[in-house]
Amino acid sequence: MNSESSAAILRMRMVHRDLADAGITDERILNAFMKIPREDFVPSGASLANAYGNHPCPIGFGQTVSQPYIVAFMLQMLECEPGNSILEIGTGSGYQTAILASMGMKVVTIELIPDLAVNAKKTVLSIVPGADIRFIVADGYNGWTPAAPYEYIIVSAAPPRMPDGLEEQLNPAGGRLVIPMGDWFQRLISVTRNGDDLVMRESLPVRFVPLVKPGKK
Ligand code: SAH
Repeated sequence: MNSESSAAILRMRMVHRDLADAGITDERILNAFMKIPREDFVPSGASLANAYGNHPCPIGFGQTVSQPYIVAFMLQMLECEPGNSILEIGTGSGYQTAILASMGMKVVTIELIPDLAVNAKKTVLSIVPGADIRFIVADGYNGWTPAAPYEYIIVSAAPPRMPDGLEEQLNPAGGRLVIPMGDWFQRLISVTRNGDDLVMRESLPVRFVPLVKPGKK
């Protein structure tokens, strides 16, 4: 069997066993995971079994691409509607960027490490050609105001507490953000904005790499 068909089988198994059977019910999310070749986002030396394991994978520079279930779970918390804008903080490998683009989202993605951003852009655009994505290389600790407001914000690294300015960049009419928060003990948090009213929900305990505050040790 060639490696493309082995990858397709592993991908299908991942979607059924690690996502659908584990409570991911949104068809659009499951379809996107079925389409995006995760092996293209991990370093070329990694085995297919490693790329499709339900665990985070190293992507260089001390960073990791999150475990498939957690990416899917965060997207399910966001309840994203296609055609809307989303700010992704922490492009990393671009895996989640590609999932979002293939769900039909208008993506603004921001990454601090230039080499990761350049690689991610190349990979994502080769897999989802014509996608509506802006790749920004900058510090996204406090979001990215030039394209605000966003319908959704998703943060792929954990700050100890809510960064200033993020909630203000949500659409006041129901915009939602999902973020892992905490130092060692982290939890996924969602915040939904209605005008000045912010409704916060706590969800799963998680383990993410830290959201880096440049210039701070
Ligand atoms: N969603 C990514 C996960 C990457 S890990 C994926 O699918 O691969 C988190 C990423 O956040 C890392 O690439 C890291 O460099 C980036 N990051 C950390 N702090 C940041 C900051 N202040 N601004 C922008 N990106 C940041």
